[in-house]
Amino acid sequence: MCGIAGYVGKKEVPPLILDMLKKLEYRGYDSAGMSILSPKKLSVIKCKGKISDLKKIAKLRKTDGSLSIGHTRWATHGKPSRRNAHPHLDCSKRISVVHNGIIENFKELKDKLVSEGCKFSSDTDTEVIAHLISRFYKYKGDLAGAVRKALKELKGSYALGVISLDEPDRIVACRRDSSLVIGVGKNENFIVSDIAAILNHTSRVIYLKDGEVAAVTKDTIDITDLCGRKVSRKVDKVSYNIKEAQLGEFPHFMLKEIHEQPRVFSRIMAHYTLPSGNIRFEGLNLTKKYFRGLDNITIVACGTAFHAGLAGKYILESYLRIPVTVDLG
Ligand code: GLU
Repeated sequence: MCGIAGYVGKKEVPPLILDMLKKLEYRGYDSAGMSILSPKKLSVIKCKGKISDLKKIAKLRKTDGSLSIGHTRWATHGKPSRRNAHPHLDCSKRISVVHNGIIENFKELKDKLVSEGCKFSSDTDTEVIAHLISRFYKYKGDLAGAVRKALKELKGSYALGVISLDEPDRIVACRRDSSLVIGVGKNENFIVSDIAAILNHTSRVIYLKDGEVAAVTKDTIDITDLCGRKVSRKVDKVSYNIKEAQLGEFPHFMLKEIHEQPRVFSRIMAHYTLPSGNIRFEGLNLTKKYFRGLDNITIVACGTAFHAGLAGKYILESYLRIPVTVDLG
């Protein structure tokens, strides 16, 4: 899992993107980077290490601009290193991509692109996406179109932020089986893996669906499906508050999660328990007849959940008198 952040508007981007990435760091922290676009220049800064390391480099480089995509990585393909940190570029160094997910057919795509003369600068699966988009990019104004064509070649999961020196007013964002949300602001817009990272800027969001491609400028958000047909999406208002999404008094998110578990668990139990004490299986459409027909139960789980499953087996068997198996899958 990685974290993606993107901004287009009037604010100076390095501090803003660094702040968003910091809030996404729980998703991955082996390397980080960002691309910053000003009308005539595409700058890339990246490093092995954490957002605090990237911050030091950003300070030294004094890069400015008001459009940027950033990434905090948890490697799946290619070791954690500066070379493999996102963003990745095409050969012309005009297109820049950040990616969360796994491209399952990257090897075939890479072999084909290499045989056609592409030079790769990393060991990641992500870099094929930058080269593919570049192959399909034919004219100014066609970035979203080129992304759609590239997506048709990909197998696997992705949330992407794509920018190009030839269209310096926009970020093209899309997703399949990885999370990506568009934050809607006034004369500014955001893309982000997790709403928590933009709540101090806006609470208005668009949840992009699988297979949708959005061209995001500071004033417009144009969404299409993979065939280029226009899609209209409503803007939602996020109801949870920024405090809930922040660390509060805790030094890191794992500790916060551990301490929040009793409260969250009782909230969930309260939601599914009727005043009579019976359980309500909301939305699952499970009938009494179905339950009476059960003659065994299997709990499939790994790691800590496997041990929780063992405790669950004990409780379920003592109440239900049905054999329960706990399986590692
Ligand atoms: N597959 C990409 C990489 O290794 C992204 C990793 C991820 O999203 O976890 O760089």
